[in-house]
Amino acid sequence: MGWKLVVAAVGLIGAAVSARGWAQSRETAVASQSVNAESITAMVGRLDLERYKATIKGLTAFGDRRQGTDRNRKAVDWIEAQLKSYGCTNTERMKYNFEPGPPRARRPRPPAGETPTAVGGGRPRGNRVATGVNTDPEKQPDAELRALDSQPSTPGPREEVYCTKIGTSHPDEMYILGGHMDGIGWGEAANDDGSGTALVMEVARVLNSPDVKTERSVRFILWNNEETGLNGSKAYVEQRESLQGKENPPGSGRYPEPKWLGMITHDMMLFDHGMPRADGAMSKEQRPEADINIEFQSNSKFAAESQALAWVLERADEKYATDYPASVSSHMTNTDSSSFMDVVPSLSVRENERGTQIGSGWDPQWHQPTDLYKTYSDADFRLGLNAAQTTLAAIADLAGARVVK
Ligand SMILES: [Zn+2]
Repeated sequence: MGWKLVVAAVGLIGAAVSARGWAQSRETAVASQSVNAESITAMVGRLDLERYKATIKGLTAFGDRRQGTDRNRKAVDWIEAQLKSYGCTNTERMKYNFEPGPPRARRPRPPAGETPTAVGGGRPRGNRVATGVNTDPEKQPDAELRALDSQPSTPGPREEVYCTKIGTSHPDEMYILGGHMDGIGWGEAANDDGSGTALVMEVARVLNSPDVKTERSVRFILWNNEETGLNGSKAYVEQRESLQGKENPPGSGRYPEPKWLGMITHDMMLFDHGMPRADGAMSKEQRPEADINIEFQSNSKFAAESQALAWVLERADEKYATDYPASVSSHMTNTDSSSFMDVVPSLSVRENERGTQIGSGWDPQWHQPTDLYKTYSDADFRLGLNAAQTTLAAIADLAGARVVK
C-alpha cells in the first residue's frame, strides 16, 4: 500500500470515530490500552493450536453438517454443549423456517473487451481454475463418511445457537462474532466452515474464562443455512434488528438483544497455498507468505466504519498474531456479514479474498469431498489459529476485556 492510501485510510478512521457510536467504544478501549495490553497478551496465550484442531475435529464427526438434516441438528446440540462447558452458559436458539427457493442465477459473463469483475466487485488476476459444488456422493471414496453425509436435507424449521458474554458496564451493547456451522460437498466441511466455527468457539472459551471480564457484551453465534444463501443470518437480522438495546423486562438490567456495534464473520480460515499454477496444479504446502484476509464491502452503507474496524483487526494482528500477517481489502461478499453490512460495521475474515481468489480456484477443497480434517497440515491450522488470535485481540480491545486477578 502506498503512503497516500495509508493517510487516506487513517483519515477515514478518524471520520468514522467521530461519526458512529461503535467507535466511541474504540476510544474508550484506546484510553485503557496500556492497562489492557497485558490482559490481551494473556488471553491470546490461552489459544492453542492443539485445542483449535481438536474443536475442528469434533465438528467433522458430524460429516458435512448440511442444513435440514439430523447430522446438522446433532452438530448444533454439540456446539451448544461445548459453549456451556466453556462457561458461556446462557445459550439460546434462534428459530426460523427454511424453504428452498429457485436455484440462484449464474452471474453473466462481461461483454468481450470489458474488464472482468469477480463477485463482490474485485478484479480477478492471473491463473484461474473452475470452481463448483460437488453433488456426487460417489466422489467421496470413504464409505463411512459417504453414509454419514447421505441423509438429504428436508425443508422446514431450523435452529442456530448463540451465547453471550455480558458486559459489566455496557451490557446493552455488543460485538457479534460468527461462523457458519453448515456445510456441503460430501466431505467433512473441515475448512468450510469447521475452521471458522471452531475459531468462534475457541474465542468464546477464552472470553468466558471465569477470570475474564468485558465492559461491553460479545455474542458468539454459529450460523446455519449459510450455504443456501445466508438464510440463517438474514433471519437473525429480520427478527432481531428492532430489538436492539431494549431492556426486557424493563428495569431488569437484561438486554436480550444488545445494540450491535459490529459484526465479524469467519469463513474458511486454513488454506492459503497461493494462486493455481498455469497447469492448474496447486502448491502442496501452505505458502510462507500466507496471510489472513480481512474484507469489508466498499459498496455498503457502513463502508467507512467497516473499513475503520478492519484496520483495528489488522493492527491487532500486527501486535498479537504469532506467525501470519493480515491484509485489508474492500470486496467482502458471500458471507453472513453481508446480511449486516447496511445495518452495522461488518467484516469477513478468511484465508483468501472470497471473490478474486477463492472464486478463481485458490482453494481446491472448496465444497469438495476433499475438505477433510486430514487434508490439512499444522501450517494450515496455524493460519486459522492466527486469525483467532487476531479476532480475540481486536475484540478484547474493543469490548474492554481484561483478566481480573
Ligand atoms: Zn463458507
